[in-house]
Amino acid sequence: MELQERSPLLEVKGNRELKRPLVKVPSQLPLPGSRFKRGTNQMEDALEPEKKRVRGLGTATKIDTSHPKAPVLTTVPQTRGQTAAPKGPKKIGPRCSTAIATVLKNQKPGPALPAQKPGKLKCCHEKTQMLGQENQQLWSQLREAQQQATALGAERRTLQEELTRVRAQAEQDHQELETLRAHVLELEEQLGTQQGLVRELQKEQLGLQEEQRGLATRLEEQERKLQASESALSESQAEVASLRCEAAAQVALLGEQGERLHGLEMERRRLHNQLQELKGNIRVFCRVRPVLPGEPTPPSGFLLFPLGHGGPSDPPTRLSLSRSDERRGTLSGAPAPTTRHDFSFDRVFPPGSGQDKVFEEIAMLVQSALDGYPVCIFAYGQTGSGKTFTMEGGPGGDPQVAGLIPRALRHLFSVAQELGCQGWTYHFVASYVEIYNETVRDLLATGTRKGQGGECEIRRAGPGSEELTVTNARYVPVSCEKEVEALLHLARQNRAVARTAQNERSSRSHSVFQLRISGEHAGRGLQCGAPLSLVDLAGSERLDPGLALGPGERERLRETQAINSSLSTLGLVFMALSNKESHVPYRNSKLTYLLQNSLGGSAKMLMFVNISPLEENVSESLNSLRFASKVNQCVIGTAQANKK
Ligand code: ADP
Ligand code: MG
Repeated sequence: MELQERSPLLEVKGNRELKRPLVKVPSQLPLPGSRFKRGTNQMEDALEPEKKRVRGLGTATKIDTSHPKAPVLTTVPQTRGQTAAPKGPKKIGPRCSTAIATVLKNQKPGPALPAQKPGKLKCCHEKTQMLGQENQQLWSQLREAQQQATALGAERRTLQEELTRVRAQAEQDHQELETLRAHVLELEEQLGTQQGLVRELQKEQLGLQEEQRGLATRLEEQERKLQASESALSESQAEVASLRCEAAAQVALLGEQGERLHGLEMERRRLHNQLQELKGNIRVFCRVRPVLPGEPTPPSGFLLFPLGHGGPSDPPTRLSLSRSDERRGTLSGAPAPTTRHDFSFDRVFPPGSGQDKVFEEIAMLVQSALDGYPVCIFAYGQTGSGKTFTMEGGPGGDPQVAGLIPRALRHLFSVAQELGCQGWTYHFVASYVEIYNETVRDLLATGTRKGQGGECEIRRAGPGSEELTVTNARYVPVSCEKEVEALLHLARQNRAVARTAQNERSSRSHSVFQLRISGEHAGRGLQCGAPLSLVDLAGSERLDPGLALGPGERERLRETQAINSSLSTLGLVFMALSNKESHVPYRNSKLTYLLQNSLGGSAKMLMFVNISPLEENVSESLNSLRFASKVNQCVIGTAQANKK
């Protein structure tokens, strides 16, 4: 029993029960069927003294002292010189060793064997029996031990398996732990990020809270403003209602005033025309051009502009031209006497008068065309006296020196625009022709007809129509100054082309610019329209009959006669109209025929007599002034507006 308490099996069992970590210890128990193996060196050393003590028995007894609590005695049968093959490993416990020890102790040296032989045999026999019993006990112990060893082996395997499993588990757990650690790290990282985010969000939240507070303040402010606006709105609505009433009253008043305005406009037109009539339906203005650079200065007193009865404030209407009678002076030997010729016109423009000043005087007359009165303005005078300058303007189209044509159209466009506010709509169509040697040519021709001087005929616009039109001539609608400028430029170009073909043609031709005006008041069903004619007449100079005529001169004489005849026809027409003759010779010249509707009782006429300031032109100047004076004496009917 003592042996069992100290048995390694028990200790192993106890260890297992205590769940102590297992240490791999090589088993000290001999296994049945296996060859006996010597223990470790350490074990041999421990057995060394015992071996010496039991050698005398013919067997070597080995005591296993590797385990302090369970020394094991192993008996190995031994033959000299050779190690006997063990029949089976024998493990002898402490009780066996005690028995052997007891046997050895009881062996005492005795007398010689024969004397003691029966006793000794008996004793040996007993001892053998005792040893056999002991051997059996030992064998049973051995079996028991072997069983224990088998159980222990099984248990060891189980434990090893368990260990392997536990290790695998531990490895797995370790891996899991690593994974968890990594996960934890990741989570920590995420946590850090989240914390950063949270901080940001907190910051943002703070900002938003701040903004919210600001918005709340603004909202309050807006609400206050809204309230103020609402009260202002209700006030305004009340005001609007009262304004509406006022507006309705104003509309009614406006209607009344529109009526009154129309009445006033009609009255203005009537008075305007009365004034024009008082001024005379044919008026004559005299314009003296300045001395040009390079021209001789005329003697003082050659041209005089006597003041009117009203003094300097009165516009000049008189002109005196002094002519020296050289023939009389030569005959008497005394200085040539001068004859002073006085002329009086509706208006006289001395050399310094600008284009604007001249136009001022005719603006009202031009405006009559809008009211439906035909208006005709002529420029009469010798070549170089300033007719083209007066009608079209200075060279190069400089706006400062723009002539009557562009200024008249600008004025008409602006007045038409003003009348547009009163319901009037106006349309303007321009034409520009040249009458040379009794042939008519379009000055606005373009393209292939440009400069060709394609012949045109003067015809009635339609059967039974009073209106005259020029066939093959362009009639161009105009509505602004730029368009008029372009037309004048085109006319200048066409004249220049013709001039190369026939020298100085322009001075021997009449240029007739005509503007057809048609106005309409749709609201009142009124219509009015009348032509405005602006005529740059051919040079009025006469050919000196005393000069010898060459073949070229004869041609020139014919031209001059044609010019003179058309100019004298114009004079005759004026006379016939003035004398209220039944026949007015309009058809005697192309010029008077074309201007038929702009001359006569229902028209307003103005003639500019252009005078050269040079003494050398005195004769022609006198002729022009005499012709103009005759025209000025004409009183032609009462103007009638073309109204429908
Ligand atoms: P006409 O047409 O009668 O032959 P122009 O109109 O061609 O004469 O005038 C002759 C010259 O005199 C031109 O060079 C013109 O510029 C100039 N002239 C005419 N009238 C004036 C004026 N009032 N002021 C300045 N120059 C003028
Ligand atoms: Mg000219």
